[in-house]
Amino acid sequence: MGLENISKMLAKARQEKYAVGAFNILDYNSMKAVIAAAEQLNAPVIVQTSVATVKFWGTKPMISWFRQLAESAQVPVAIHLDHCKELDVITDCIEQGWTSVMIDASSKPFEENLAISQQVVDMARPKNISVEAELGAIVGVEDDIHVKHQDAHLADIEQSIRFCEKVRPDCFAPAIGTAHGLYKGQPKIAFELAEQIADKTGIPLALHGGTGLSEEVFAKCIALGCAKVNISTQLKHVFIDSFVDYHNSNSRQYNPLKVLGAQYQQLKEMVNENIKLFGSEGKAN
Ligand SMILES: [Zn+2]
Repeated sequence: MGLENISKMLAKARQEKYAVGAFNILDYNSMKAVIAAAEQLNAPVIVQTSVATVKFWGTKPMISWFRQLAESAQVPVAIHLDHCKELDVITDCIEQGWTSVMIDASSKPFEENLAISQQVVDMARPKNISVEAELGAIVGVEDDIHVKHQDAHLADIEQSIRFCEKVRPDCFAPAIGTAHGLYKGQPKIAFELAEQIADKTGIPLALHGGTGLSEEVFAKCIALGCAKVNISTQLKHVFIDSFVDYHNSNSRQYNPLKVLGAQYQQLKEMVNENIKLFGSEGKAN
């Protein structure tokens, strides 16, 4: 158990029709809460790091926290670099021991995206590191990535097939109508397109923009082939709200360890709920 890449983890999830939660952590406390929640529910889990978070802390401290927590974990745990356009950041994460990386060259023309994604697979695979790649443009804001409504477009089915045949990513993120950030109204998800892509490529799909989707939507997406669900915005909200709430109810107390403890508990509960929602509880073995 412990440290694992996402290739085997997601293949099993897809086959058994559940999804592994990928939670965008921010620091040691949130990383610890994610892994503790997974252990409590005997679930596989993905600790996900945004490029902004990686740049804030540096790869060396982050991988040492991860190794310390994951190596003693009783469940499979992966560390994954989320949406990355910069090859030097990807190279750094690969060298430091991330178990998987996402190349996001989706803003480039198709052929260029294909070539860059292929290049990352060639860098990562010999080291047993998995790769997620994206096609189409997922609307919304995710740290430094901003995609406006008018620029968002769904992945094309024929291009998805060609892309996956050539690149063979371990996980594929086609834009299917979900969004980063908070939803305003009901998201229009292209279930049929997602199903066709999943069937024709055979590759486990990543569902981006998981925050705010309903239980029904998750169930439908997982049934059709989404094996990884990304939760970022919800974690950011709990991260900050738990601090604010604790301070509001204990305004005279200035014991940071108590605040961190309250934050840890709330993050753990949030991850717990999501793991149950994605059906990965008890799937560690
Ligand atoms: Zn995303």
